[in-house]
Amino acid sequence: MSPAEPRTLTIFERSRDGRRAFAPPATDVPERAVEELLPAAAIRRTPPRLPEVSEPEIVRHYTNLSKRNFDLDTGFYPLGSCTMKHNPKVNERVAGLPGHARLHPLQDAPYARGALELMWRLERALAEIAGLPHVSLQPSAGSQGELAGLLLTRAYHEDRGETRTKVLTPDTAHGTNPASVTMAGYEVVKVGTARDGGVDLDDLRTKTAEDVACLMLTNPNTLGLFDTGIEEIARTVHEAGATLYYDGANLNAVMGISRPGDMGFDIVHFNLHKSFTQPHGGGGPGAGPIAVSDRIEPYLPVPRVVHVPSTNGAEPVYELRHEAPKSIGRLRGFQGNFGVFVRAYAYICSVGGDGLRDVSETAVLNANYLRARLAEAGVGELLPAAFDRACMHEFVLSGAPAKRELGIKTLDIAKRLLDHRVHPPTVYFPLLVDEALMIEPTETETRETLDAFAEAIRSILDEAREDPDIARNAPYDTPVRRLDETSASRRPVVREQHHPG
Ligand SMILES: *Cc1c(COP(=O)(O)O)cnc(C)c1O
Repeated sequence: MSPAEPRTLTIFERSRDGRRAFAPPATDVPERAVEELLPAAAIRRTPPRLPEVSEPEIVRHYTNLSKRNFDLDTGFYPLGSCTMKHNPKVNERVAGLPGHARLHPLQDAPYARGALELMWRLERALAEIAGLPHVSLQPSAGSQGELAGLLLTRAYHEDRGETRTKVLTPDTAHGTNPASVTMAGYEVVKVGTARDGGVDLDDLRTKTAEDVACLMLTNPNTLGLFDTGIEEIARTVHEAGATLYYDGANLNAVMGISRPGDMGFDIVHFNLHKSFTQPHGGGGPGAGPIAVSDRIEPYLPVPRVVHVPSTNGAEPVYELRHEAPKSIGRLRGFQGNFGVFVRAYAYICSVGGDGLRDVSETAVLNANYLRARLAEAGVGELLPAAFDRACMHEFVLSGAPAKRELGIKTLDIAKRLLDHRVHPPTVYFPLLVDEALMIEPTETETRETLDAFAEAIRSILDEAREDPDIARNAPYDTPVRRLDETSASRRPVVREQHHPG
């Protein structure tokens, strides 16, 4: 054990009555009582309990907190399914321009035409990428896009006088898929996985009946494998009158190469915070736009951004259209996280169509390189690939042999990686792989970074052969050691503990 470290004081312990960071000069505007300006209900009875500290103390407080985080700007972050790629800082600059960042959400549409034009152009670009003609930017996340897609499916069937109660999701599906199905009031029916990692077609045919509203799928799937049965899947689902929903979280593998619309999907969501340059480590904000086919279009959320082309030399007009008799309505206040739209649009414009294809090809190349590199580093026996075939942008290993032979679990490997300054890959997902380790290197990492990761994994396994307790007690070199994750999720403490007095 290391000697006891001196405890850092909390910012509340540093607080001294009346201490200030910055004192503005006296105002020459006549003061007015707060009671004159605010309704009584909006006025606090007791002042907020805020720490009173000097400017260096507050700067150090936040700077030190920020250093306790692991983030993409600190190290490699191969978190599978989440696409934690480096986001070019230039897109951040564009989103921060005052015309974008300071636009008021209550601004009337005629005075925000530039913003509407940007949204319309982003919609057009996403429509092209999806291979589906109509887009709504409204959903705030992939999971809200899923809910929107299911509400659209229901509206579509109800309009045709049909009542359908079930939605199919593969057993490899991301947890948000069945959760969205339940939220939308449908019953979840699981479809099995075939030996090659794709949808089990026989199981699908057995379960696709008149009462099925939709099949939700991601392709490549959460095993990082492209489902080559997709045309047969689409035919089966459409023959039964159901819709086919594309979970676009894995779009980073196929942009500019294949389009969900061409594969037969009716509804697609994008995770702009995965494929299109948004920093999303802190949980938001994000955006989960949807693209749909002609038959789903009448039900899209309102308001829609519309473009009235110029006639007789007049300026083209971009506006919001609120009326759409069959629409499922609004999904949120205002139009969405506008800064996210600006970054995504800047990114798409800066790399262009060829660049997006390059992004996906490099992501796939990096994943296959790392998969091969790990096998070469002698990791293959203890951490074999769950499905031994070429992968797309990510791949899944099974830690079952390492657990059996070395006595260390996938969780131990993940924790020990932190001491190598690497964020752990996604672990224990997808559920059908025992001791799963799901690795997504992304296109933005260099070959040297991938090699270093393979070396880190190799050294963790070598070390465990000598002494498995090293990994079992990891991490050592982080601000906190192993946390009680079960209690943290079962009994979360969400309010700060105030000091009395
Ligand atoms: C991230 C993810 C989702 C959910 O998207 P959010 O934007 O996090 O709501 C759905 N499916 C898959 C496969 C994902 O990786």
